[in-house]
Amino acid sequence: MPKLAARMDKSKESAIIQIANKARKLKEEGRDIISFSIGVPNFLPAAHVKEAAHHEIEYDKGSYLPGRGTKELVEAFISRMSKNGFDYKPTEIVVGNGGKDILFKGLLAVLEEGDEVIFPAPYWSSYPDMVEFLGGDPVAVQASAAQNYKITAEQLEAAITDKTKVFLFNNPNNPTGMVYTEDEVRALGDVLVKHDIWIFSDDIYDRMIFDNLGFHHLLKTHPELKDRTLMMQSISKNYGMPGWRVGLGAASESMAKAIITLNGQSVTNVCGVAQAAATAAFAESQDFSDHARDDFEKKRDIVMDALTSIDGLQCPRPQGAFYAFPDVSFAFGKEFNGKVIKDATDICDLLLEAQNLACVPGEAFGEPKALRISYALPFDKLEEGLNRFKAFFTELS
Ligand code: PLP
Repeated sequence: MPKLAARMDKSKESAIIQIANKARKLKEEGRDIISFSIGVPNFLPAAHVKEAAHHEIEYDKGSYLPGRGTKELVEAFISRMSKNGFDYKPTEIVVGNGGKDILFKGLLAVLEEGDEVIFPAPYWSSYPDMVEFLGGDPVAVQASAAQNYKITAEQLEAAITDKTKVFLFNNPNNPTGMVYTEDEVRALGDVLVKHDIWIFSDDIYDRMIFDNLGFHHLLKTHPELKDRTLMMQSISKNYGMPGWRVGLGAASESMAKAIITLNGQSVTNVCGVAQAAATAAFAESQDFSDHARDDFEKKRDIVMDALTSIDGLQCPRPQGAFYAFPDVSFAFGKEFNGKVIKDATDICDLLLEAQNLACVPGEAFGEPKALRISYALPFDKLEEGLNRFKAFFTELS
């Protein structure tokens, strides 16, 4: 049999998908599993979004669409961006199959073999895999729970070398739920202006911010970075539409054009029905996603009440997205049902086996001391899952 290309050795199945599959299998076997594992917002798109999709099916002209994205979606996105104080022209926008596609193609457009891509750890698990797959070297800059999982300007400065090509920044953060303050963003920007590197800004959770903290962005503190910044947006999280696969990039004309070229030679265009739905999601009132955000803020409080009641567990209070990322290392070396716990992966295995609760080990996000709780669940399931979580830690000896 002919061989697969060597680059496929660098491509591995995501740990999140692995645990989600394991949980699904146990559920099918009849176990009462509660899943804290998957990053899917548990709400469906607004009615006007579904209507726009139906309308598009009805009036479909049966043709290919522009590789940049439809005129309507590009305009709706520009208008959403401008309401947030970011000004872009249509030639600076590109639509992809999800935010992941925009990041992947952006990296494909800039990385040469051996180029370094810096990102803060804990990180979204696809970052290092995408970089390696494309021949780059991932450089994770570690931020522990004690520093609220946020890197400092000094750490960023120390990580930049003459091989650095991209700084990849996700705020609010998956998996920690942490949000950078304006001063923290400014301090990172002060470093970035001194170095000629690309900035990929993963803003996918920008509407999911709690406690009225506000969304602070490098392009607000340092507008001069605009030409070398790729801003990434998506309808997956803010609008409850992960399966519709629409993501957007805002960048320089040349970067947008590079991604359009890659679209042209791979997927041609994003599905027109999905683009029409995304247009409606961006164009209409944002009350729908405000409501979803308020709901997550209440859930964050419930999660934190439970986590702070566990002696020894450390969890910086999440301020956005729908994740909490407790450091569970106090439990390493303790025993559960006669088994000595050596790491967070053991804890996740035991939680699934003994408590029917699925969480993702922090190793998948570059922090082996922690585990991720996704709290995008109905309130009753969330409460029940947290009771199981607490029960596990009380039974340790
Ligand atoms: N970036 C982060 C931080 C994410 O959490 C995700 C999805 O979980 C993505 C990007 C990809 O999102 P999309 O569904 O738009 O491809």
